[in-house]
Amino acid sequence: MSTVIQLKKVTKSYGGAAALDAVDFALPDNAYISLLGPSGSGKTMLLRVIAGFEEPDSGSILFHGNRLDGVAPHDRGIGFVFQNFALFPHLSVGENVAFGLRNRKVDPVTDVRVLARRVQDMLTLVGLKGFDDRAVTQISGGQRQRVALARTLVTEPKLVLLDEPLGALDANLRGRMRTELKAIRERCGVTFLHVTGSESEALAMGDLVLVLDAGRIAQAASSDAIYNRPASAAVARYLNCYNLFAGAVVDDAFIGPAGRFPLNASRRKAPQPAYAIRYDRVSIRPQDAAKFDDEVRIEADFIASEYSGAAVNSFFALDDGHVFEVESHLSHARPPALVEKDRYALVWKKEDALVFG
Ligand code: ADP
Ligand code: MG
Repeated sequence: MSTVIQLKKVTKSYGGAAALDAVDFALPDNAYISLLGPSGSGKTMLLRVIAGFEEPDSGSILFHGNRLDGVAPHDRGIGFVFQNFALFPHLSVGENVAFGLRNRKVDPVTDVRVLARRVQDMLTLVGLKGFDDRAVTQISGGQRQRVALARTLVTEPKLVLLDEPLGALDANLRGRMRTELKAIRERCGVTFLHVTGSESEALAMGDLVLVLDAGRIAQAASSDAIYNRPASAAVARYLNCYNLFAGAVVDDAFIGPAGRFPLNASRRKAPQPAYAIRYDRVSIRPQDAAKFDDEVRIEADFIASEYSGAAVNSFFALDDGHVFEVESHLSHARPPALVEKDRYALVWKKEDALVFG
């Protein structure tokens, strides 16, 4: 697989603070890449630097092996789709799509018939065949998003940067547009770098997921690897599916605010550790249920449950007031009927816990 873009130690500061701190990665051709990070972690800055709207303070960016230093944004062959779509309100759908082709610096398309055909092809690709003459003010949010995408794709970029492209859509539409975006990308065979603050979106969409934490790449791996083996406590926290504890490793156990968790032999190294157990690795048992040797057990008071399709998430209060979350998949064992304020045993396997340094 060849590399479309490579960043080498890219650093960019704002008012003394590093918005991007020695960012290093290479993205493959023809792939869907998610970039996940909390608000303020530098996601937009990273896209702006790649697009050429900002120059890095140091480091370099290689596009198909060539350095991009000093190359103007419109000469980079990189497309950008903004969160707010940024369409021209006075132009029709077709005119919006044609705009980039007609006005591009390199090889502008002026032949009316060629232009019309390219616009048609592109509208078909994004599922908007027949919408050419509509005003962009008279189509839905999802359709506007497709126009924004079509307007970028028509210029045939090799890399498309999408800054929270689904952020402005309602939840229902967001789900459908996930599938749609993936399909459109597959049809045109270019690399999409999709920025999102949503862990479920990042994991569902990316062939490769990059996690940004305070301007640094905290992990770059497949969804599966990120979900099952987050590289740090910060990554586990952003995934929103791990209970995390700070504490200390003493002998063969992790000692934290919720008590003493016996550890597997392989997990005793970290000097300043955090302990993590995924929501769906925990079972809820009656308070007096037996515990096995390979298990860790704590007690907590049931607060409430939340159903979401195939799973139910149950919230418990630990004795120190922290909330502990358990996710039970309804296709497995149905959790027992839980009584508010009653005390339960929460149990997991020692080997399912992660301990971070
Ligand atoms: P994200 O898109 O992940 O929410 P940003 O890339 O917008 O984060 O911002 C990263 C950091 O850079 C933040 O700390 C932000 O305050 C800072 N920053 C971004 N743009 C500017 C700017 N124009 N002036 C000053 N600081 C900025
Ligand atoms: Mg942003």
